Amino acid sequence: MHGADSGPTRGYRHRRRECGRQGAREGKPASDVREPSRAAVWVALETLWRYYYRQFPNTSTTMPVTAEVRLAKAHARIAEIHRTLASLHYLSSGTLLKRTKLCGNPRCRCASDPAARHGPYYEWSYLKARKLRHRTLTAAQAERMQLAIANYRKAKKLLKAWEVQSLRLIELNAP
Ligand SMILES: [Zn+2]
Repeated sequence: MHGADSGPTRGYRHRRRECGRQGAREGKPASDVREPSRAAVWVALETLWRYYYRQFPNTSTTMPVTAEVRLAKAHARIAEIHRTLASLHYLSSGTLLKRTKLCGNPRCRCASDPAARHGPYYEWSYLKARKLRHRTLTAAQAERMQLAIANYRKAKKLLKAWEVQSLRLIELNAP
């Protein structure tokens, strides 16, 4: 029994020493040997615990959230949405594309070399009266447009969240 234990333990400690950090542990081989069995005990306890709770699926240890707490949370979330919306300045729908173009001249380098294509050009695509429109922007304009589009998507998400919180307040009959 002792011989069987000391073999793998010595190998374990030797590997650790190679890392150069476990020198202080060498005086306590017993704790190293006991580690796996302690883990096994925990696994067994956890299995028993799960088995026990499966017998009583309706047993809940969580506290019921009161209506006041839910109201306060919804109000706080709406206030947070207001603050975030107020911090947005640029806003735009649509999409932005960075593209390069061929000029059509067969003697131009762009005709044979993909790296020599003209541009980049920044094209903003947007819907106007249900029709897709395009507009070319400069690099500086495109940078602001990118921010505006990101803000638009953020604002849309915030509006959705605002709707959810409003419904929560309505369901809780908030004044
Ligand atoms: Zn060209």
